[in-house]
Amino acid sequence: MAGQITPMMAQYLALKEQAGDCLLFYRMGDFFELFFDDAKVAAGVLDIALTTRGEHGGEPVPMCGVPVHSAEGYLARLIKGGCRVAIAEQVETPEEAKARAKREGTPVSKALVARDIVRFVTAGTLTEEALLEPRRANVLAAIAPVRGSVGVASVDISTGRMELEECGEGALGALLARLGASEVIAPEGRDDTPDGAIERDAREFSSESGDKRLRAIHEVATLDAFGTFSRPMLAAAGGLLAYLDHVGRGTMPLLLPPVARDGAGTLAMDAATRSSLEILEAQGGGRRGSLVAAVDRCVTGAGARQLAEDLSAPLTDRAAIGERLALVGWLHEDQLLRDEVRTALKSLPDIGRALGRVVAGRGSPRDLGQLRDGLGMARQLRDRLRQAEDRPPLLDALLPELAGHGALVDHYGRALVTTPPTERAKGGFIAEGYDHALDDLRQTSGNARRAIAALEAKYRDETGVGSLKIKHNGVLGYFIEVPARHGDALMAADSGFTHRQTLANAVRFNSLHLHEEASRIAEAGAHALAAEEAHFEELVEEAVAAREAIARTAAALARIDVAAGNAERAAEDGWTMPEVVDAPCLEIEGGRHPVVEAALAGSGERFVANDCTLGETDRLWLVGGPNMGGKSTFLRQNALIVLLAQAGCFVPASAARIGLVDRLFSRVGASDNLARGRSTFMVEMVETAAILSQATERSFVILDEVGRGTSTYDGLALAWAVVEAVHDTIACRCLFATHYHELALLADRCEALSLHHVRAREWKGDLVLLHEVAEGSADRSYGLAVAKLAGVPAAVVKRARSVLDKLEKGRAETGGIAAGLGDLPLFAAAVEAEEEQCDTLRDELRALDIDALSPRDALEKLYELKREAGER
Ligand code: ADP
Repeated sequence: MAGQITPMMAQYLALKEQAGDCLLFYRMGDFFELFFDDAKVAAGVLDIALTTRGEHGGEPVPMCGVPVHSAEGYLARLIKGGCRVAIAEQVETPEEAKARAKREGTPVSKALVARDIVRFVTAGTLTEEALLEPRRANVLAAIAPVRGSVGVASVDISTGRMELEECGEGALGALLARLGASEVIAPEGRDDTPDGAIERDAREFSSESGDKRLRAIHEVATLDAFGTFSRPMLAAAGGLLAYLDHVGRGTMPLLLPPVARDGAGTLAMDAATRSSLEILEAQGGGRRGSLVAAVDRCVTGAGARQLAEDLSAPLTDRAAIGERLALVGWLHEDQLLRDEVRTALKSLPDIGRALGRVVAGRGSPRDLGQLRDGLGMARQLRDRLRQAEDRPPLLDALLPELAGHGALVDHYGRALVTTPPTERAKGGFIAEGYDHALDDLRQTSGNARRAIAALEAKYRDETGVGSLKIKHNGVLGYFIEVPARHGDALMAADSGFTHRQTLANAVRFNSLHLHEEASRIAEAGAHALAAEEAHFEELVEEAVAAREAIARTAAALARIDVAAGNAERAAEDGWTMPEVVDAPCLEIEGGRHPVVEAALAGSGERFVANDCTLGETDRLWLVGGPNMGGKSTFLRQNALIVLLAQAGCFVPASAARIGLVDRLFSRVGASDNLARGRSTFMVEMVETAAILSQATERSFVILDEVGRGTSTYDGLALAWAVVEAVHDTIACRCLFATHYHELALLADRCEALSLHHVRAREWKGDLVLLHEVAEGSADRSYGLAVAKLAGVPAAVVKRARSVLDKLEKGRAETGGIAAGLGDLPLFAAAVEAEEEQCDTLRDELRALDIDALSPRDALEKLYELKREAGER
């Protein structure tokens, strides 16, 4: 009937209301069905058929569905496609629904199975192995702006790590870039909410509720033991925990005690720097071509995740960096030991994530088996490493974390079969000999099975039907089957068989004996399942109780894997241990760019190593030379070497002495980004402005062709002014690549600036790029030679040559675009003063016709001018 809502539709709509903007997976038998717009979205993302079912409001209802048994794969694609999903399960059986209808006096035939949303699946709250990338952390973050400052709570619920931190409003972008969260939540109703963030009730973001929830979860009276947390941090935690509560429908995932993170301990990098250095992702997206891909030799997913974290947040504490480096160095020296450690780690299950699933109530017997195996191996690794000599301090600190699970490993060892299944409902994971009652039950059903086999032989004998069989299926249970032509013989009233079913070719019977044995199997089976279930709960509880210690073991293993992987990487290509010092220097001998070098090696080319020596008296290098000459590569390799060193990794150089850097900035001139279609020059200037306001004397800045996104004059002028500011005001270490020869004039006025270029030669009319960084300014730009190299037709190059000749002649006559720069006042301040003079105040005064003003207007004007003057 059009217009009338069926009970099922009413139930669906009520659930959809709860699901909000999540897609609703509505369980119907063996399928999850989606309706209305949800169906359209899902069918699009999943590329599955969109159909219709019934109608609503006079319109057919769009529908699509996915089978329950393969739902994980579909979920993964939806989450990747940016969707969130609410899962509505049937929470009673059809029989229960009928019984309920009877009690409630509603028609039994129309009884509707009750359904409820049991979970929300969102990008930041996944724990399933199939939905997570093994080598990438999966972070959920919540932000809470509180009076000019922002609290940020982040958690990787697949491993339970939780961090709280606070930053200024302006630094939020950089912080979120570091976290790389797959889901960000924020209080609703603010206009500064980051793009893509999910807005939640602002009342949930209160420091009181954050404090209370954290104390409740960790069962402590105060959070003092975990650290000192500011109000914004706790407010963010409040929002985060409320969200987790919501998506888990009351089941909390694994959460370790929060750690207060102090931004001062890490090398600051903003979002633009991260993306231009391609730390975790290449510019085109994806891990391929990124720094982490070029460095990562970890043999475990947890190690790879830790490495990504290290590279995202390098340290600024010399002692801590030194500790990491010492461990890498130790494993670097002893190849045999390193191989042994890596081989051991390779077979290690991902215990951090197994623990995450177990604590979230989604663990399987297999996860418990992984904990048993992983923790057992950790202990063996400890025993092995304890025998090694000259252990570095970091290793000594890690070793105790590898052990201490003896009782649990032993218990799980006795309780579980060797390879427990992923499905728990069918049982079969508790080992024999662990529970005698369970063994008896199994024996009972084993005996009954044998008895049934014996019955088959006996009935064949008795009936003389050699093809008689005893079979089993899900509907009838056990039954006796004979071919149709023998059916009649067994039909006789006194045959001892009772008829159950006649098929085209076969007739099926039951017998008292068979029924008895079958019941015995069913009963014993049910009891056995219940017993296994109870054991499972106990085993889970044990892991939950030990969760913090297990997580520490997982973290220690990951740290060892990172160090061993880095030592391995270093050994592959002759990387060295950097010396990290306090002095503001950067002395790199034979530096290389790990990503470019790997790419070249792929095509059989050799990378040319280059030195870089910045110090107090020579801290800004202008690097010129032809396009494609290797300027960008040189700039970035030095930034990457700093980053690697402070992350505690060996570096691709033959020697490196690095003065600690507090902030790293990398900027690329706009035209490289043209393809991304933003107002690129504006972006370039905004990003450059950030450097000028945030860089300190201890920072390291690389600027690649900044100023190129605009006209030649503007570009040169800006590049000039930026170099001056970096040199005079910030006084930090800086590499500046440019194709403006005119900037060479700066060498005369800036005492800590020197000129360099990438070498090139023209040989028999062809350009040879040597990729060698040499002292002095670039003599020419070789633009036409590069064009020829790039395959621009000879006729065009020839024409360009004659145009160029004309231009150069003109330049020689007028002195070129930098002709006026020789007279530029020595100090930037003088330029400013000059600019001040042409201000608007003066213009306004000049334009004022005093005679035409009434005394009252004059007074008002005076006030206005005074106000304007006050604003400057
Ligand atoms: P530029 O910034 O001067 O235009 P790039 O740094 O982008 O030049 O380098 C262009 C290409 O030259 C790189 O993609 C790489 O293939 C090659 N190249 C750069 N530096 C080196 C080097 N040191 N050794 C070998 N090849 C290099």
